[in-house]
Amino acid sequence: MSARYATRIHVLDHPLAQAILTQLRDRNTDQITFRKGVVKVGRLMGYEMIRSFQTSRIEVTTPLGAKAEGIQIPDMDHVVIVNVLRAAMPLVEGLLKAFPLARQGVMAIQRTEDRPGVENIRAVRYFSKLPAIHTEDTTIVADPMLATGSTILETLKEVERIGTPKRTLIASVISCDYGIERVFSYNQGVELYTLAVDHELNDKAYIVPGLGDAGDRSFG
Ligand code: URA
Repeated sequence: MSARYATRIHVLDHPLAQAILTQLRDRNTDQITFRKGVVKVGRLMGYEMIRSFQTSRIEVTTPLGAKAEGIQIPDMDHVVIVNVLRAAMPLVEGLLKAFPLARQGVMAIQRTEDRPGVENIRAVRYFSKLPAIHTEDTTIVADPMLATGSTILETLKEVERIGTPKRTLIASVISCDYGIERVFSYNQGVELYTLAVDHELNDKAYIVPGLGDAGDRSFG
């Protein structure tokens, strides 16, 4: 992993997240367990993101009539989740448990390869519908595998076309150096939440060791 991006990459080291990742990587994990695992990852990732949200102090009155100081998290009311179909659906299901008020947009993107080779993989968008994005919003782009970065780049361009969010976060189960480099050099502010950074892509642009095809493993 590129050391110069260390502050922008958040690898979840919670043992539960890492145990789920191990299950997801295992070729013997069945479809339902896999999909439920990705939902759990989305929830854990959402909670991890909330650590970085601003809080404000608030005083409440308890049923005993006593005052108690606490916090609230106003930014949680200003979240837009971009669901990259179809593989991100379980990840988004989990993120929505952490951000129940999030507005949601979808991007339908197909990977195509004109000629063999990772550098020839392109992301072709054939449908997108995003809600309005405001300057107070945190936009979360959900894509379970950050491989070449082409899909995320296409999504970031669409987010930029719609609005200028306060922050843009990527939620990805497994990421790889090649895609991170492309995405981070394109957008200097974006941050990544992931469970692992793998180092290889095979000639079909699958992450190695990875977990295989995330969409197929969730949905058959
Ligand atoms: N998409 C997947 O589902 N898996 C990979 O390894 C890369 C892209």
